[in-house]
Amino acid sequence: MGAPELLHHLRGAGLVLTLTPAGALHVAPRSALTDDHRAAIRAERDALMLALQAEADPPPPAPPGRSGNPLMTPEQGDECHAGGWDDAEIDAYLAREARFTRLGRVADAEHLAERLTLRDRQHDDRRLCLECVALADNGRCLVAARGRLPGASRRLEPVSTILQRCEGFTLAPGLT
Ligand code: SF4
Repeated sequence: MGAPELLHHLRGAGLVLTLTPAGALHVAPRSALTDDHRAAIRAERDALMLALQAEADPPPPAPPGRSGNPLMTPEQGDECHAGGWDDAEIDAYLAREARFTRLGRVADAEHLAERLTLRDRQHDDRRLCLECVALADNGRCLVAARGRLPGASRRLEPVSTILQRCEGFTLAPGLT
């Protein structure tokens, strides 16, 4: 069974597999893990992590779609803007764009903020480190720096633009 099939199988068994900011594989809930699951995960750990990474990465740069956002396909752009944005979506977009710009993402703050509108519409619960209060201006994670992010170096500089789930995440003030 290849990694994609194994991933599908494990998800079908109720398991949630994610990559931690430190690059480790996290599987939950432990109560649903059988010995067979553990053995399969152990044997395919690297391939599973590559498969998860491929899912987490934004789509490769493509010709600008109808939204003009290189982080989304034309179809995603259409979904992101279907029916127009309501006031809450506009407010969320503006707050995110302002924060990302302040954190140095001047070139892609708008694109990232727009991509998050689609994320919200898809009820995707993953977050960017850019949305986390623990991301310092120098790119370091303050939770990791305090030694409170299991498995992570205290000098962790997380990739801030990948959607992920992190147990240390706390929404930055002013964001939704
Ligand atoms: S605690 Fe926040 S900044 Fe640190 S890795 Fe997790 S989500 Fe990113």
